[in-house]
Amino acid sequence: MSLMKGKRGLVMGVANDHSIAWGIAKSLADQGAELAFTYQGEALGRRVKPLAESVGSDTVLACDVEDIATVDATFEALQQKWGSIDFLVHAIGFSDKSELKGRYADTTRANFARTMVISCFSFTELAKRAAALMPHGGSLITLTYGGSTRVMPNYNVMGVAKAALEASVRYLAADYGPQGIRVNAISAGPIRTLAGAGIADARLMFNYQKRHAPLRRTVSIDEVGGSALYLLSDLSTGVTGEVHFVDSGYNIISMPHPDALKA
Ligand code: NAD
Repeated sequence: MSLMKGKRGLVMGVANDHSIAWGIAKSLADQGAELAFTYQGEALGRRVKPLAESVGSDTVLACDVEDIATVDATFEALQQKWGSIDFLVHAIGFSDKSELKGRYADTTRANFARTMVISCFSFTELAKRAAALMPHGGSLITLTYGGSTRVMPNYNVMGVAKAALEASVRYLAADYGPQGIRVNAISAGPIRTLAGAGIADARLMFNYQKRHAPLRRTVSIDEVGGSALYLLSDLSTGVTGEVHFVDSGYNIISMPHPDALKA
């Protein structure tokens, strides 16, 4: 199959081969997409470059979303290389680890603002620049988590940022829809990644969801990649403004099944 043949786009958020963005990149490359990557800081760059090469990409750009000059430079480089793009993957999130435990009520103003800028507002800033390179329409996705609508212990300010991110998906979908640009989010279940490990008791959450989700397992980065392929390809041309769950069905559960509780 070559669902992405002739399509070009930017994947942001690969830190290593456990990253959700990497699962997405592999599924897009398998289907013939041409990819560019960004990395945050030289240490991660050394990991991202060989991964990019392994899927035939020679465009690997330094970009820290806290530094808007690097964001602008990324899109200038893409404009020079390709002229236009078809998709953007935003798989970026950050909050101070010391606040991903304990009470949300104790969040500091400084970390609230930083978490929001990196984990939420960066998508809006990137969408604007990506849309400017999408004269024939396109598709943008971001990554979210169910802690946006329901309280997950220790997720705290990140849950508030994800709620704002999901709201921005809907507003951006309305803003860019007339240009044929679709904007969606994937709400992934817990996956063992660098970012995931920053949340206190991550292993407990992971095992709990594994035990109680309808599918009785967690999801892989390849499964998120499959859903991203759907949202970024022409298979989903009628879909925008959605939050699509890839979580083994955990979000539909009100209470764990008694059998699972007794086990
Ligand atoms: P990861 O650590 O592999 O990826 C997080 C990425 O964010 C890294 O590549 C990091 O460099 C990047 N990043 C952080 N601050 C940045 C900045 N200032 N500028 C540019 N990049 C920056 O972890 P992941 O789990 O693959 O996370 C990807 C996305 O998926 C995040 O938005 C995360 O919240 C979301 N998500 C993760 C899970 C999970 O359980 N792992 C579940 C649902 C959603």
